[in-house]
Amino acid sequence: MKIAPIDLGCPKNTVDLEKVVGLLVRPELRIVGDPREADVVIINTCAFIRPAVEEALETIIETARLKKQGIPRVVVTGCLPQRFGRELAGLLPEAELVVTARDPARIAARIRRFLGLRATRHEATRWSLTPPHYAYLKIAGGCDNRCAYCTIPLIKGRYRSKPAEAIMAEARELVRRGAQELIVVAQDTTLYGAERGSPSALPELLRALGQVDGPRWIRLMYTHPAHVDEAVIATIAGEERICKYIDLPVQHGSDRILAAMGRKTTRAQLEQLVHHLRQQIPSLAIRSTVMVGFPGETEEDFEMLLDFLETVRFDHLGVFTYWPEEETRAAAMAGQVPEEEKNARQAQVLDLQSRISSARTASLQGRTVQVLVDEVDKTLGISWGRTEWDAPEVDSRVRIDDILELGHFAAVRITGSDGFDLYATPASRSSTSAAAGEGAELNVPREVSRA
Ligand code: SF4
Repeated sequence: MKIAPIDLGCPKNTVDLEKVVGLLVRPELRIVGDPREADVVIINTCAFIRPAVEEALETIIETARLKKQGIPRVVVTGCLPQRFGRELAGLLPEAELVVTARDPARIAARIRRFLGLRATRHEATRWSLTPPHYAYLKIAGGCDNRCAYCTIPLIKGRYRSKPAEAIMAEARELVRRGAQELIVVAQDTTLYGAERGSPSALPELLRALGQVDGPRWIRLMYTHPAHVDEAVIATIAGEERICKYIDLPVQHGSDRILAAMGRKTTRAQLEQLVHHLRQQIPSLAIRSTVMVGFPGETEEDFEMLLDFLETVRFDHLGVFTYWPEEETRAAAMAGQVPEEEKNARQAQVLDLQSRISSARTASLQGRTVQVLVDEVDKTLGISWGRTEWDAPEVDSRVRIDDILELGHFAAVRITGSDGFDLYATPASRSSTSAAAGEGAELNVPREVSRA
């Protein structure tokens, strides 16, 4: 039997699907990448906003069209059934099985019964859906923050930290299988341990991960600005293997909107935090996300957001438009912003950030930096890598004009950029970088990442 997993949504979902597939794997079963070759397709969905729901439904319908050619059976897992429950099965005749469970072990058990497979005795070994040299390490499920616009607590339930021993065992296993970079994820990584009365659990966990033999990079994603404390900052600053990078979603720059969103921070606190982070960790790159068009967002609020972004000058920024999701507090709020206005505001923020990013990438020119090689294109004779200031999928990449070793680190000299991605040449080929050597000039120049 051949199974094709399709992964939609965020890295937290990816980890769940990797565990489900890992639990299903057995000698008589093959995992394939192309649904057209599969007997069964598992579509792991995202559903936290309307476009994600639409993408999930389109993928299910598209996959079901393949049935006309005699294949495959369609199984739907993840946020879509977790959000809409069992009724979804009746609305989706394209899917043979819709699994509402959240826990990967229960999802795998349900699929096993459906496929008539016997239970296996082995523990969940993840089936990597990312390249083997990096892996996501999920440290918790659910969320307790209840931001006014967000469906995640409704879909994923209360925050549940994974036991540290289980996380460490998983980290060691991922490293044994070749991970050079572990990317720590959860809906809010900074809540780790809080529900068990252990608020300092994240720094402890990060320090323990820093001691694992093998990974050169440990990257921290999805921190909540209201929960980033001195201990977290000191750990990023002090642990050599922790990337000088933080993902810090701020969502807005107007106090009125931040309060309406339930984000527990003010603009002044956010500015102070960004300033403090950069003081304590001079080489830090900060990624953030903001949302435009939240109910009640006036032109004045939006100007405040632009002014805030111009002041803090994030190294990387994602910009979302607000979607009124049923069951959330924000959907019932007055002052819903028209779609055209939301889109226009999103374009304005993207335009501003593109200018900030261009200045950042331009100022990296001539620097020698370490990259982790993510892709090699032998036909074009190029490689794609990432610096420690860039997370996979969402941040900038470095295009290197040579074939390097996939999944390995290399020193390269930045020669240019297109405003977002960087161009580089191997440092060993460059006379100016020969003196600098491997590991030299790893710091992000201050002028590109500070207000
Ligand atoms: Fe949603 Fe807020 Fe939790 Fe993020 S922190 S998952 S936005 S409720």
